[in-house]
Amino acid sequence: MRHTKVKDLLNSTTTLEEVNAKGWVRTFRNNQFIALNDGSTINNIQCVVDFENTADETLKRITTGAAISVTGSLVESKGAGQKYEIKVSELEILGDSDAEKFPMQPKKHSLEFLRENAHLRVRTNAFGAIMRVRSVLSFAVHSYFQQKGFVYVNTPIITGADAEGAGEMFQVTSLPLDNLPKNEEENIDYKKDFFGKHTNLTVSGQLEGETFAMALGQIYTFGPTFRAENSNTSRHLAEFWMIEPEVAFNDLNANMDLAEDFIRYVIKYALDHCGDDLKFLEGRLLEEEKSKPQTERSEMTLLEKLNFVLENNFKRVSYTEAIDILRDSTTNKKKKFQYSIDEWGADLQSEHERYLVEKHFKCPVILFDYPAKIKAFYMRLNEDGKTVRAMDILFPGIGEIVGGSQREERFDVLVEKMKALGINEEELWWYLDTRRFGSAVHSGFGLGFERLVLFVTGMTNIRDVIPFPRTPMNAEF
Ligand code: ATP
Ligand code: MG
Ligand code: MG
Ligand code: MG
Repeated sequence: MRHTKVKDLLNSTTTLEEVNAKGWVRTFRNNQFIALNDGSTINNIQCVVDFENTADETLKRITTGAAISVTGSLVESKGAGQKYEIKVSELEILGDSDAEKFPMQPKKHSLEFLRENAHLRVRTNAFGAIMRVRSVLSFAVHSYFQQKGFVYVNTPIITGADAEGAGEMFQVTSLPLDNLPKNEEENIDYKKDFFGKHTNLTVSGQLEGETFAMALGQIYTFGPTFRAENSNTSRHLAEFWMIEPEVAFNDLNANMDLAEDFIRYVIKYALDHCGDDLKFLEGRLLEEEKSKPQTERSEMTLLEKLNFVLENNFKRVSYTEAIDILRDSTTNKKKKFQYSIDEWGADLQSEHERYLVEKHFKCPVILFDYPAKIKAFYMRLNEDGKTVRAMDILFPGIGEIVGGSQREERFDVLVEKMKALGINEEELWWYLDTRRFGSAVHSGFGLGFERLVLFVTGMTNIRDVIPFPRTPMNAEF
């Protein structure tokens, strides 16, 4: 008999004569009640075993984590909070689980412990919920752009372009391990390497994406991105997924509108399609909040936060205004920053971003018109000659979630800027071709997918919203 998903059984509109379900045992109580989960929903289905007619040997093997198949009738449940349960007539153990050794017994585990068991943590309620939300959000990303007629472009993962500062790149080599340099002075001979040149894993698909936008009009990428971040923070991964739309004939304002509309769409999509999972995650957070002192507790629940984003426009603030707000940090006792902001031109740290969002404006913020000096070479220089048409979107609890800009479309200005920064024009000949042949105003942004998942699930560490996190000294799986 074909099995039915637990989700569909729980949503059934009638009782059913004969059903089969397959899944993993979450708990087994009183030799009678199995809470069965198959991953299709946060909710378990209760399976009631006829223990008087079941062999002791079988009952002993119904342990947490075991894979089982149950056949029986779907009947109305007397238990609170569930409409149906399965009255089991036939139970088969598909795979035993040694209860003594199974690390995912239903109890409160620390997030650190769960990270060390990334292959098993997905069997907990919280991680099952997070991974389903992540999957639905992925779909929403494609759904949004496809509906708007954007073309999905797969930019290269191995790239020869060395555009944004080589510091944080992972180098690629096909040389056998014993050919690698023995010490720092010895350089890799790339001529002997597969590509015949220095290559690295992509840190952004933007430059390649721009070339496609200048032919297809509106494009987006959604792919793995690699940065050898040496900082160990709760919002950086060495391997993450980035969404990068790029649109021809869009200026900075249109770019901000697109980002805002996009974020609202995907959050709404998650609210509409992950109700049970988000409710569960909200409850989990409320539990966590209870252990905090009253003053540190969040003013809004998770669902309230998500709805707030849907209902309120993001506050658009220029970098200069933001600096004015942050600047009096030394005199104003309320603002105690580790890095004080004293001068126009300073780069914002995440503590500043979070101050603006959480304490000052109390809503998501779009900061724009940053000093050219702290932003990448390809951003459109403003008429003042010192700021660029950049924008960062800052979210509560996270800080930067989006980084974007209107691109410098003027060939001469772009080349001059590259020269000033020592960026090799010859290496980027193909990028400069977009400005040589039919250049036009265009803009785009990069959104870190995991930072979005962080916000939507209410988790606080980016390691907890990706299946197998890659961080310094951590690539066990
Ligand atoms: P940050 O200031 O947080 O280091 P960034 O300015 O270096 O981010 P961008 O180059 O603007 O990042 O990349 C676009 C987006 O990609 C960021 O807004 C962020 O959402 C995401 N992102 C960047 N680096 C990481 C990372 N190491 N792990 C996860 N997401 C990242
Ligand atoms: Mg960074
Ligand atoms: Mg940044
Ligand atoms: Mg950025």
